[in-house]
Amino acid sequence: MDYYIYIRSWQWRQTRLVAMAAAGNRCEKCGADYWLGNRLEVHHLHYRTLGNEQPGDIIVLCGPCHKKEHKIGSNGKIEKSKAHEVHNT
Ligand SMILES: [Zn+2]
Ligand SMILES: [Zn+2]
Repeated sequence: MDYYIYIRSWQWRQTRLVAMAAAGNRCEKCGADYWLGNRLEVHHLHYRTLGNEQPGDIIVLCGPCHKKEHKIGSNGKIEKSKAHEVHNT
């Protein structure tokens, strides 16, 4: 599964929607509510199940929490830039 193809796919769109609905359309860190105008993004905790994500592989975050997540976990250089391209689509 090519990462960049996948991220533009219908399948990923569905996965994102399901994840957001499951999270109640709120950030899983701070509870920022989508319906109150907060932008939500879906973050991959890892890429081992790319294309077949299970709950626990991805997490719903608001923009600011998502940025923080990448700062903290950014010992890898590739994932950082990759992930940002992804979730901002
Ligand atoms: Zn948040
Ligand atoms: Zn991310």
